[in-house]
This record gives sequence, C-alpha cells and structure tokens, in this order.
Amino acid sequence: MKVLLVFAHPEPRSLNGALRDVAVAEMEALGHEVRVSDLYARGWKSHVDGADFPALPPEARLKVPGASRDAFVGDGLTADVAAEIEKLRWADTLILQFPLWWFSMPAILKGWVDRVFAYGFAYGVGEHSNDRWGDRYGEGSLTGKKAMLMVTAGGWREHYSARGINGPIEDLLFPIHHGILFYPGYQVLPPFVVYQADRFGERDFESAARRLRERLRTLDTATPMPYRRQNAGDYTIPECELRPGLEDAGGSGFALHLYDDGKR
Ligand code: FAD
Repeated sequence: MKVLLVFAHPEPRSLNGALRDVAVAEMEALGHEVRVSDLYARGWKSHVDGADFPALPPEARLKVPGASRDAFVGDGLTADVAAEIEKLRWADTLILQFPLWWFSMPAILKGWVDRVFAYGFAYGVGEHSNDRWGDRYGEGSLTGKKAMLMVTAGGWREHYSARGINGPIEDLLFPIHHGILFYPGYQVLPPFVVYQADRFGERDFESAARRLRERLRTLDTATPMPYRRQNAGDYTIPECELRPGLEDAGGSGFALHLYDDGKR
C-alpha cells in the first residue's frame, strides 16, 4: 500500500513525533510505501487568501470557491497545494496525525484541508441538479481510498465515552470523519486515539506503541465506519435528508448517518 501521513505537531521530539516514528517504521516493515507531510517542519501556510490564486487579478474580489475551482481546472494552484493533491492521488491510504486541540485539529492541519481540498477535487464534484446532488459522501475524487485519524488527547477515555463530559469521541471526530474524509469519497477507518497523553510515562508509551503497531497491521483489512452513502437511496435529493424510518443506528444526531453494519 501507499500511505500518506500528514503530521501536525510543532515538536519532532513530542509524543506525537515518537508515535509517528513508530507508525512509519511499522508500515515500512509491512512493505508499505510511506510519505510524510510534516506541516510545521515545512512551514505550511495555514490560511486561505488571495496569494493562493496567483491568476486572480489583484483588483478582483476574492470568492474562494470560484477561485479554487478556476485554479484547479486551469492548473493554477500554488505549487505547495498541487504537490499535496498529487500525494493524495498517489496514496491508497491517508493518515492525519494530530494532538486534539480544543476538541479538533490544530489550525495548521485545518488550513491544509482548506487549501488542499480544492473545488473540483474534494468538493463541487459531479452533477448538481434536482436529481443528483454531486459526487460526495462516499463518492468523489478519492473513492476507493481509505483514511484514518491518529489522535492524542489530554482527556481520559471515560471523558470521551458515551456519557462522558466531553461528549463521545465519535461525535467530536464526526466533522472530520464524515465532513472532510467521507465527503470526497474516502472509506474512513476507526480512529487510533491515545488518551491521557499529557501524563504519559515510558510504560504508557510502550503500550500505546504496541497498540499502534497492531492497528497498522490491519490497515488493509479493518472494517470502515458504516456511513450511509448519499447516492445509495437513503436520502431524498436534492434536500439530502435521511428518509423517514431509517433511524436504525441510534435515532438522532450524527448516528443517523451510520447504518447497522449487519443490514447490508
Ligand atoms: P507531549 O507534550 O510531547 O508529551 C506528552 C507526555 O508524553 C510527556 O510527559 C512526555 O514526557 C511523554 N512521553 C512518553 N514517552 C514519550 C516519547 N517516547 N516521546 C515523547 N514524549 C513521551 N486535550 C483534550 O483532551 N481535549 C482538548 O480539547 C484539548 N485541547 C488542547 C488545546 C491546546 C491548545 C493544547 C496545547 C492542548 C490541548 N489538549 C486537549 C491536550 C493535548 O491533546 C495534549 O497536550 C496532546 O495530545 C499531547 O500530545 P503531545 O504529542 O503534544 O505530547
């Protein structure tokens, strides 16, 4: 397999840095080809602005989706963004690795998504009409590929459990899993999460590294999260609402968009 690991931590000697090294070594030992995009190390530009669209006349009003579409179609993306898109096309599997910061990804990684997931590539793909609302949520440019999050969190596993004060980890990660990865077509593997990361000692590290190696050995066999595909009949088009009576996975909220694995 070809794996792209996008690494978003400012310190190479961090816990995240050590886990990245474990991951890369294990995947290479398994025979996978691995490329790493180390966002802080290369000074990734984390915000979208006019500099992202060099072909746009300086006096033109910036409308980001249209500028992104024109740049994508017209080969006018900046070299850093174009290189990341080429890596995404190359990789069978994408891993996003980051510490949980304010219940989400660090800004630099969000900025990688904002800039690299261009219009025409990751969104705005396919026909949009009253009969079809694009190739998205299970279809799109990245169909057939897998993605997984590697996340460290300061909070305890219990804090992120079904009744935990922080909310369930599946819910917190839903916007990334479903809105960023499933949207352009990735099959999303369950995340690898390390809890209580700030209190890690050497033995905790050894145990997390062992667990990580085990997870990586199942990269090509693990069952993806059973998200409903937009264009498989479960949603009305163009409203994109789940049809009544399909609430089999929990009844409300994010869980609506999962189906019961045994049923299809
Ligand atoms: P580091 O600080 O690098 O290391 C953590 C510990 O691991 C250290 O004690 C280190 O000695 C030890 N360690 C053990 N073995 C090794 C090894 N081999 N290599 C390196 N270190 C090792 N947490 C939440 O749960 N929810 C949040 O919303 C949240 N928001 C945050 C927002 C901000 C802005 C910040 C700064 C932190 C937040 N946190 C939150 C905590 C954050 O998730 C953790 O600080 C982070 O996951 C720890 O990972 P790290 O790689 O930065 O760890």
